Amino acid sequence: MEASEKVQCLIIGSGPAGYTAAIYASRAGLNPVLYQGIQPGGQLTITTEVENYPGYPDGIQGPEMMVHFEKQAARMGADIRYGLATKVDFTGPVHKVQIDEEKWIEADTVIISTGASAKWLGLESEQRLNGFGVSACAVCDGFFFKGKEVAIVGAGDTAAEEALYLSKICSRVHMIVRRDEMRASKVMQERVKNTANIKIYWNSETDEVLGDKKVHAVRIRNKKTGETEEVPVSAFFVAIGHQPNSDIFKGWLDMDEAGYLKTIPGTSKTNVEGVFASGDVQDKVYRQAVTAAGSGCMAALDAERYLSAKGVH
Ligand code: NDP
Repeated sequence: MEASEKVQCLIIGSGPAGYTAAIYASRAGLNPVLYQGIQPGGQLTITTEVENYPGYPDGIQGPEMMVHFEKQAARMGADIRYGLATKVDFTGPVHKVQIDEEKWIEADTVIISTGASAKWLGLESEQRLNGFGVSACAVCDGFFFKGKEVAIVGAGDTAAEEALYLSKICSRVHMIVRRDEMRASKVMQERVKNTANIKIYWNSETDEVLGDKKVHAVRIRNKKTGETEEVPVSAFFVAIGHQPNSDIFKGWLDMDEAGYLKTIPGTSKTNVEGVFASGDVQDKVYRQAVTAAGSGCMAALDAERYLSAKGVH
């Protein structure tokens, strides 16, 4: 493989972690190159109001906030590019990352901030009707089903939050919960239970999403009785958690059974020298914009110190 470019610091991913790493690495003179990945701006671009990011007393829309992050990184001098990391080779002291299945870049340090993506149930109908009533983001797509009946599957904080969001736009929300209790925090559970137009189906699973060209119903199976029920809905939202975007690092970096990259506690260091991880790809606990940004900062500082210690920078 022939590398066509050599950089000091390569950042993969453009959520709060990646852009913060880019801001710090630029200011430290590492001339970072950042590849944005499939979804520039990351998961915050598919949310609406962000009220808990410090510094925005009136809240801010997620996509707008990510534009701010990007602008700040660019102003500091980061080289921000479209492109997806498709392969890595961490055998040598200089690391190699392939972009868009063609170009290879050599980097003294790599900061991985590839984030996480929504999980799907795995039903054929769910895949076929994706974008035609099936969605993994209520806040992005709920608007299209204003005044209609919709279904949502999941019972964590995300599902609870999205069910509440939908209850304000849609006439009725059918919430499918696979156990007899929810995983969501108590306060969120109470809010869901006390919302008149949310109907909860306990001990239930999605048998099939029904529709030819677009969703018109969902078949729900009660796991205790085995009975199925067809509920007419215009949309089906999936909110069953996320998985880290770490596939290309399999075999190179240590990860847990769910695929989250392992870092040395208190640092952003992976098991490969000069390769650092930040944001949701290595965090299944906090997963907040502000914690991701903080860990992006850590990764840039770790990268700078690594290069200084090697005498490269
Ligand atoms: P979680 O992993 O917490 O919850 C996933 C939910 O989906 C669980 O209820 C799980 O059921 C259910 N589920 C998983 N697979 C299936 C399946 N195949 N069929 C049906 N149901 C399924 O993910 P979240 O995205 O909700 O939350 C992730 C993290 O982010 C959590 O730590 C959460 O607290 C946090 N968060 C915090 C928010 C806030 O504070 N405002 C908002 C959103 C998220 P089961 O319980 O049976 O395993």
